[in-house]
Amino acid sequence: MTADVLIIGGGFAGTALAYYLARDGASVALLEAGSLGGGSSAAPAGRAQIIDSENEKYLDLVLTGIKRLENLGEELGIDLEWTTPGHLTLISNENQWRNFEILVERLQRRCIPAEMMDLATVRKAEPFLNPEGFIGAAFSHEGHLNPFKFNAGFARAASRMGVKIIHGARVTGFEKTGKHINTVITTKGHFIGRVVLMAVGAWSGELAALAGTTFPMKFTHAEAVVSESLPPVLHHHIGMTGFYEAVHGSDRSVTLGIAQHINGTLVASNAVQKMEKLDLSSTDWGMPALCQAIRTYFPRLGGVRITRTWAAASPFTPDYLPAIGWLPGFDNLFIATGFHLAIPTIPILAEQAAQSILEFEESQLLSPYNPKRFYTEEGMQ
Ligand SMILES: Cc1cc2nc3c(=O)[nH]c(=O)nc-3n(C[C@H](O)[C@H](O)[C@H](O)COP(=O)(O)OP(=O)(O)OC[C@H]3O[C@@H](n4cnc5c(N)ncnc54)[C@H](O)[C@@H]3O)c2cc1C
Repeated sequence: MTADVLIIGGGFAGTALAYYLARDGASVALLEAGSLGGGSSAAPAGRAQIIDSENEKYLDLVLTGIKRLENLGEELGIDLEWTTPGHLTLISNENQWRNFEILVERLQRRCIPAEMMDLATVRKAEPFLNPEGFIGAAFSHEGHLNPFKFNAGFARAASRMGVKIIHGARVTGFEKTGKHINTVITTKGHFIGRVVLMAVGAWSGELAALAGTTFPMKFTHAEAVVSESLPPVLHHHIGMTGFYEAVHGSDRSVTLGIAQHINGTLVASNAVQKMEKLDLSSTDWGMPALCQAIRTYFPRLGGVRITRTWAAASPFTPDYLPAIGWLPGFDNLFIATGFHLAIPTIPILAEQAAQSILEFEESQLLSPYNPKRFYTEEGMQ
């Protein structure tokens, strides 16, 4: 099969790119090793975070993305279950309190609802929470959607525009002439694309190696649990300070992030462990540790039944920012990976990337995320 653009990977990034490329007139085929959303995109809590934006520029991007998410369901023809419950970050010491005051003030300057809450206010806001050990919380506006529908919405809209989605097509190699990839070899046959687009998240290092280069993809192993459906017990998404430090730093840690979805289930993440090799299986310590955390912070929910548990890779680049652009050493290999705050940023970044690919032009919006920052003339830094 031949297409203008061959996309490898059917997570949020690959399906969003497929949609925007097809919408802009390209013929597209998407190759997915397993099933759509079977990588990290099957895992997220569904948060469209705002307060975690790294800097002013990233905050601009996230805020534009949040605006887009409000109407994205309509554009894609799917109910994304978009709600704006807001986020409470529980704070355990004065130092963190001061850091969050700065973040809250930054949001307030942008007229985004945000405030510091003392313990009495936190108790009133979340009666099921036992905030012992915390000194208060930072509240910030944020959105929430159903991640399965986010993935499926892009995939279905892309299919309606003629994108061919091939499930079970694991890429096993590339045929190249010089800097040009001629053929993508998969378990479902050979494919040819004018442009080859790698949107394989945590697998980016593996795929880059198959293409004869390197990419410094990093990931940790993250686990979560889902409960039976309950009447309303939580009003916000609730997390703890140190979430990103735990996810990206320690060897093994539990940092509770918990929310109640529209269908009444509680989704609680994250038991995090460093791993050298990609492994999507649950560990023997992750689920008990998460259940214990639920018991500690929500004692009245201690008897709730857990119906399923899962594990996924949480992918990130060395500077925690996305890598979107042409891969050095090739004239037709584009990479889109390492999405930080993926849900609010992917619709904007994928749309820009589609334009940049079809017009073969550098995009100003994407320039901070150019993958060439990880390479020197000699190769990877
Ligand atoms: C526990 C957890 C909670 C999270 N919570 C949030 C959240 O609340 N909000 C948020 O914005 N982000 C969250 N994230 C991050 C978010 O899930 C990821 O950033 C996002 O899903 C990455 O999407 P992707 O398309 O880049 O990668 P993926 O979804 O991993 O897609 C890559 C795809 O490539 C396929 N693939 C791999 N190798 C091959 C091959 N050789 N051939 C063909 N296909 C291949 C895989 O099967 C996979 O489907 C969370 C992550 C985790 C782990």
